[in-house]
Amino acid sequence: MKKGNINVSVENIFPLIKKFLYSDHEIFLRELISNATDAALKLKHISRTGKEKIELNDPKIEVKIDKKGKKLHIIDEGIGMSAEEIEKYINEVAFSGAEEFLEKYKDSAKDTGIIGHFGLGFYSAFMVSSKVEIISKSYKNKPAAHWTCDGSPNYTLDKSDKKTRGTEIILHIDKDSKEFLEESRISELLIKYNKFMPIPIKFGTKEETIPLSKDAKKDEKPKTITVDNIINNPKPAWKKQPKDLKEEDYKEFYRELYPMQFEEPLFNIHLNVDYPFNLTGILYFPKITNDLNMQKDKIQLYQNQVFVTDNVESIVPEFLTLLRGVIDSPDIPLNVSRSYLQADGAVKKISAYITRKVADKLASLFKKNRGDYEKKWNDIKIVIEYGMLSEEKFFEKSEKFALYPSVDEKYYTYEELFNKIKAKQTDKDDKLVILYASDKEAQHSYIENAKAKGYEVLLLDSPIAGHLIQKLESSKEKISFARVDSDHIDDLIKKDDSKVSKLSDDQKTNLENMLKDIIPSEKYTVKLESLDNKDHPFIITTPEFMRRMKEMQQTGGGGMFGAGNMPDIYNLVVNTNSDLVVEILKTKTKKKQERLINQSLDLARLSHGLLKGEELTNFIKRSFEIIK
Ligand code: ADP
Repeated sequence: MKKGNINVSVENIFPLIKKFLYSDHEIFLRELISNATDAALKLKHISRTGKEKIELNDPKIEVKIDKKGKKLHIIDEGIGMSAEEIEKYINEVAFSGAEEFLEKYKDSAKDTGIIGHFGLGFYSAFMVSSKVEIISKSYKNKPAAHWTCDGSPNYTLDKSDKKTRGTEIILHIDKDSKEFLEESRISELLIKYNKFMPIPIKFGTKEETIPLSKDAKKDEKPKTITVDNIINNPKPAWKKQPKDLKEEDYKEFYRELYPMQFEEPLFNIHLNVDYPFNLTGILYFPKITNDLNMQKDKIQLYQNQVFVTDNVESIVPEFLTLLRGVIDSPDIPLNVSRSYLQADGAVKKISAYITRKVADKLASLFKKNRGDYEKKWNDIKIVIEYGMLSEEKFFEKSEKFALYPSVDEKYYTYEELFNKIKAKQTDKDDKLVILYASDKEAQHSYIENAKAKGYEVLLLDSPIAGHLIQKLESSKEKISFARVDSDHIDDLIKKDDSKVSKLSDDQKTNLENMLKDIIPSEKYTVKLESLDNKDHPFIITTPEFMRRMKEMQQTGGGGMFGAGNMPDIYNLVVNTNSDLVVEILKTKTKKKQERLINQSLDLARLSHGLLKGEELTNFIKRSFEIIK
């Protein structure tokens, strides 16, 4: 037997490692299985190059719990290590690597900005073990070796009688880490980190029923057999070529990724690039709902099929974090802080590549089958609109696939919409006004009014529509948006000036004075207009500017007014073309006049959704009185 002292200056690395990696103990299993996978892949590679004759028989990995002995075994059938190799790779390289790590991250490791992957490799086993053994036999004809270490710089290295090629790592699980002797906990970790690793991983056994053959006897029962329980799919869809996959394969992979998702994805994007960086993956557009599961199922980041994290912030542009799926890239540096990650050149390129691929896919879906794309629009618009607001490149590309639906469910591209409105416009030099509604129900009467005048009304009802409108107004020439119930529309629904109003100037002054006495001026700006539609004596509109300022405040836009400080001022348009207004003018008694005006005002407020609570109750009471 040989005894030795690991060449490391840190007196006892064990407690240090525990301290630094406190929240992330569970990654030891991922690290050890990664080593086991590498060992198998190396063997396969050597066999493929044909330099040495190797009997391969599909190496696999096994994870075994020995609850009684308080041990966890990770066994592989890879290249193995001779005693000299253990000394070289484990004692020198691994330990000096750990030391270097500690030196480098002494201060920053405590910082939460670091991603949970430290690349500590084999040494992370000591986070959960009081003692670790390695029993290994190299694929070369050399005696097997047995290494033991309790986390102090002392180790022992002895001969072993292991006959088969490969490595067995035995972890003597520490009393603080008993959870890792639970089958459910290990199973959870294997599924989280190793579900798509390239070498089959066995964890226990399972019963499988063999279906009866065609010529089975009548009373014959199907047989059950015990088979290895393989927890991973070594050939996940994202590693395959897009041309080898059908639509159904993508859907099946989605179910494999998110077994708790019952809703099918709307479409997928296969990422596959190897220059100037290496990246594969599949992204899915889910139906965006208010479902809470939404938050849970995120894009997963892998490196060579090993799960790393589902926090892909700063790797994927923020607007795409609502998507699901997998990204696999060995080129993303992980043991760095987030701010470093954001500044990293490769990461920036990856983020730009993903944005471009998503935009291209959307454009091609739109081109290929517009009808189908329109049907999906409601479910994908949030992501697209968010992207248009946050990524300039995406905004430019969105010309080809961003849609603007009308209240009647006609869908326009920006160009189509612009041309349509322009064709209708009489003064060609004027700014184009695009009318929109944000709520079909609440703004019903306004929508009807505008439509009666022949205007196209868009339905922009997503929570960020306000911001999108501002963005469009500032980046496109000569257009502005106006909500159907805003003051801009006064001009649009006004009767032609050529047609004379029913009222004389004297009568108008009369009416103005009358209204001034009754309508509170701090709440309403009264305007007399001759409108086309006689049926609307009083109409309330909101100043577009005022409403936008308020909306901005609500969505955190700030501004010079504090939230809620802005007064609610509305426009009250009194239609001089309406019979009722003429009637009011003619009414003799002041009391009756007042009642008619108040009743009309309340009806207009009701139509604008402003009549609530006690005022609404009083209005209803009064209305019943009138019809009694
Ligand atoms: P890394 O994997 O990052 O190189 P590790 O500390 O995990 O660092 O391992 C150090 C070295 O030990 C590996 O590079 C490999 O040569 C060897 N090794 C570790 N585990 C195994 C194993 N299961 N089979 C064969 N060699 C291994």
